[in-house]
Amino acid sequence: MKSKKLGINTICTHVGEIEDTQFKGAISPLFMASSYAYEDVDVIRYPRYFNTPNQEGLCKKIAMLEHAEKALIFGSGMAAISTTLLAFLGKGDHIVIQKTIYGGAYNFMVEELNKFGIEYSFTAGFSEENFTSTIQTNTKVIYIETPSNPLLQITDLEMIARIAKQHGILSIIDNTFASPINQNPLDFGIDISIHSATKYLSGHSDICAGAVAASQEHIQQIWRVAKNLGGSLSDYTVWLLERSMKTLAIRVKAQNRNAEKIAIWLQKHPLVLQVYYPGLKDHPDYKIARKQMKGYTGMLSFELVESLDANIFMKSMELIKQSQSFAGVESTMVSPANTSHSMLDREERKLQGISDGLIRFSVGIEETEDLIADLKYGFDKAKS
Ligand SMILES: *Cc1c(COP(=O)(O)O)cnc(C)c1O
Repeated sequence: MKSKKLGINTICTHVGEIEDTQFKGAISPLFMASSYAYEDVDVIRYPRYFNTPNQEGLCKKIAMLEHAEKALIFGSGMAAISTTLLAFLGKGDHIVIQKTIYGGAYNFMVEELNKFGIEYSFTAGFSEENFTSTIQTNTKVIYIETPSNPLLQITDLEMIARIAKQHGILSIIDNTFASPINQNPLDFGIDISIHSATKYLSGHSDICAGAVAASQEHIQQIWRVAKNLGGSLSDYTVWLLERSMKTLAIRVKAQNRNAEKIAIWLQKHPLVLQVYYPGLKDHPDYKIARKQMKGYTGMLSFELVESLDANIFMKSMELIKQSQSFAGVESTMVSPANTSHSMLDREERKLQGISDGLIRFSVGIEETEDLIADLKYGFDKAKS
């Protein structure tokens, strides 16, 4: 297949599929073997070597979607993140970490890195000065996440790649929020792109998985550590993830469209103080978002007026469910103050822009009018 010329939906549907030579079925067969021949073979296959037929097939799809040479899939997003960091950091090294990152990644940094003798610093913000002033002589990695959770702040990918190259440092992004449909960081010079495939890549809230995409050389280095740490994904789940990813682009584009319309609708609502969505022209980072994103994701946050109780509002709706994870085809909402940021006290949360009335909205693929009707219903209930 001359895959360079394929369009996005064709890549999602076909790239990496395994031909069923035995029965001529239309989809990839599932190979569940955990034991393969070792004599007269080119490679010895084993799930924890990350090289079963289904694993290798799906990695081709993910690599092509991220404009990368190679990819690896893992048992979770955190397995992908931890393995990648431990592949490039060792005793005496230092990592610069963006101020706001996913809670699980934050916990890994502050709870585990010290045990390996790895130093870390968080930046004070998202600017060039914030990043360069945090770099030390022993810095080996810059780690970013954009758009960030839950306020959808944008980090400039070109700027990060330039800083990293100037200092001879590796740049790593958690690209989960954007998905490869909306953002391809390697095109902007970022070295490694990581995904929690639990989110958009799987998109149906029924799989936990992770992925990394990068150059052949970087993937090789990650693989050497991955086979020792052992965070591989079951082939059954690999197969399910392949099935899910066939609709990745049509799902994400529908979610982009829905979120954009709803962001505009919420912005005009008298009971909403603020809407955070990088596709809105008055978002402080709109220009950077426009430069590096093809779509603005199905994720947005909004802040209710203080007189409205966020929990009553969320509980009142019928279609839109309260749920902690995100990026499924179904719309869900979460209160960051009660979940991801509950360990901080109210004042500390306020400093970070997380008020009690802030709601993170993962917009699904339902009809826009139905979602807006549900939101209206929630506002009416919470008001009374
Ligand atoms: C969910 C998530 C992760 C962690 O992924 P798991 O699959 O839960 O291990 C990492 N980064 C971001 C941005 C996430 O949303």
